[in-house]
Amino acid sequence: MQGVNKTRTKRNAGAALASLECQCGNPLPTRQHWMWECGPQPAGRHQPACYMERSLGVPLVSEPGPAPTATEHSHTQLQRAVVELLNRTPARSDGRILLATDGSAIGVQWRAAAACGFATTTATAEGPVWGADQTPGVAEILAVLVVLHAAATLGVSVHLLVDNLNVVRALQKILAGSQTLPPFGFGHWHSIRAHACPMVPPSRHLVSWVPSHGKKQSWRPPDPWSGQTSLWRELNDKADKAAERACQSQYHRRIRPSEPEVAAAHTWASELMKQLHESSTAYAMRFRDLYEADLGSVPAAYIQI
Ligand SMILES: [Zn+2]
Repeated sequence: MQGVNKTRTKRNAGAALASLECQCGNPLPTRQHWMWECGPQPAGRHQPACYMERSLGVPLVSEPGPAPTATEHSHTQLQRAVVELLNRTPARSDGRILLATDGSAIGVQWRAAAACGFATTTATAEGPVWGADQTPGVAEILAVLVVLHAAATLGVSVHLLVDNLNVVRALQKILAGSQTLPPFGFGHWHSIRAHACPMVPPSRHLVSWVPSHGKKQSWRPPDPWSGQTSLWRELNDKADKAAERACQSQYHRRIRPSEPEVAAAHTWASELMKQLHESSTAYAMRFRDLYEADLGSVPAAYIQI
């Protein structure tokens, strides 16, 4: 009996599917047919410029301007700005120059711009992150690297204030002479160790954590700096604002000019997806009707409308 039922099911399902066709009469509609051929096409739609655009339904857009490279002027300029900043800031009573660094990024993934900010009691400095990793994490690490490089150039010691706890802990270990480097931002950590590590550890440099942007109201710096809460917070805030400024300027220069093109691409792709959804749903409904006429209700696993 089982075998007979199976044969009937197959024959009936075949009969239903044999008369199934697209709303336009196409017997074998494809995804591309629904996107580009079926039903009324919106007037003035940009036609696909290549096979990729046609098959994926996603337009190609130009890349944003490239991020600065390590050999470019902006890199040297940032190094100089931080040397200048350290030069203008007197050391505190412990012989170290107090300085806050911060990293920031705006935009997403391949359309992001990251930058570093620096603040002392006398002034601020800022500049773009170089390289492909345009992320806040790399900006934080790079800011530390630039400071330690500048400090090595001038032969001065610094007390860094950083609001990223991962960076603080990693740098504290390096300054204490650890040979183990964090598994992220690896190349930069190599350079940091090269600049930070004295011949005989521990280093004269210090790094302390400060809560970002006014968070943790009950926080106080550890002794002997417990009276400097507002100064440390103020420097962190200034470094944050400097990084944010540099991000904005990078974003405006490299990425904003392509925003209209990307917005148009989003509209184009979403209209296509809407068309694909409507045409394929009509097809699925037709399938359901034919299936139900022959075989009863459609199993949930077959189709969801
Ligand atoms: Zn069709």
